[in-house]
Amino acid sequence: MQSAEKLEAKFKAAERQLEALTEQVRQNDEKFRSSQSRELRLLQAPDLDKLLHEMTEGLRDSFDLRSVSVVLRDPGHDIRHLLLATDVDRDPKLVLVDTLTGLAPQYIALRRPWLGPFAACDHSMIVASTAGVASIAMIPLRCRDELIGSINLCSADVNRFTAQHASDFLARLGVIASFCIENAVNRARLRRSGFTDVLTGWHNRRYLQARMKEELARACRDGSQLVCMMLDVDHFKRVNDTWGHSAGDSVLRELAQRIDAEVRASDVAARFGGEEFVILLPDTRSADGQHLAERIRNAVAAAPFGLPEGGDVNVTVSIGIAEFRPGAGDTDLKSLGDALIARADVALYGAKAAGRDRVVVEAA
Ligand code: GH3
Ligand code: MG
Ligand code: MG
Repeated sequence: MQSAEKLEAKFKAAERQLEALTEQVRQNDEKFRSSQSRELRLLQAPDLDKLLHEMTEGLRDSFDLRSVSVVLRDPGHDIRHLLLATDVDRDPKLVLVDTLTGLAPQYIALRRPWLGPFAACDHSMIVASTAGVASIAMIPLRCRDELIGSINLCSADVNRFTAQHASDFLARLGVIASFCIENAVNRARLRRSGFTDVLTGWHNRRYLQARMKEELARACRDGSQLVCMMLDVDHFKRVNDTWGHSAGDSVLRELAQRIDAEVRASDVAARFGGEEFVILLPDTRSADGQHLAERIRNAVAAAPFGLPEGGDVNVTVSIGIAEFRPGAGDTDLKSLGDALIARADVALYGAKAAGRDRVVVEAA
């Protein structure tokens, strides 16, 4: 028979074990809950730039880390193009590369999360800043069984990520993040195709309307001017009537290329309708817009356009310019945009009426 003391000691030990187990379950439950809410936030991100923001800033805050970076393989610069109109493509926490080779030794065989000490010689190319980082977790991002990059959790605590730590939660997060990225890239591609003009490869009117609102909002916020330029080919009907519709198409394509060569990357150029093009010039005054318009007019008139069936044709354009200046009560961006385009159109009409092949700036 066991003595009462022995029984009591056994009972106490069992009780302690139960307490420890309960605590472990509570901790796991907490871990599960926060990991679930992280996954939900990734799954609910409405578009690619918000998703990437959630993966860097969002995960940094939720894991309470020094920083989080995302490395993505982008050989065709597709993701970079999709992000061009956002601020995300300039975010140092997002590392978009042509190839993962040579970036970090772990990429050679990254199938499960890699947890360990941070080494500047190995990891400096995959983080935005090496300062104060002591340990790192590299979570692989995979698409159709191919490594496409990683999420890199950086901690100031050397014991935060070690090879001894369980990494199942992180592996799961990586699978979900990979799925979200593939999905968001596909959605962005689809949206872009709805914003593209097939003939010229330029943005179309729908895109212009979306960007117009963004640029107006930016002008209001920064107190800067926005110039709207409307361009129309002179007597274009004659080109079609004389040379045929496909010759007209090739003129429009070359016209788009000649304009493209003159505008800045930050300008927003779109095919507005048949032979009408609109160019928005952020943070620009109408005098500078006028200079650019004259350059475009010259680039068109300076040399004849070659035709696919041989021969060539002289083409001229007329351009109307209007300037938006932020003022009090500018709230309805849609009406502001429509009004700005209508004013540029009136100036364009003035250029046509005055004899074509010219630039007219709306009267102040
Ligand atoms: P104006 O100097 O007054 O602008 O004269 P215009 O002949 O250019 O003016 P109008 O707007 O009457 O004619 C535009 C022509 O552009 C009519 C249309 O057939 C042609 N057009 C519109 N879209 C396309 C296109 O995608 N391809 C071709 N080839 N022609 C187009
Ligand atoms: Mg026209
Ligand atoms: Mg015309």
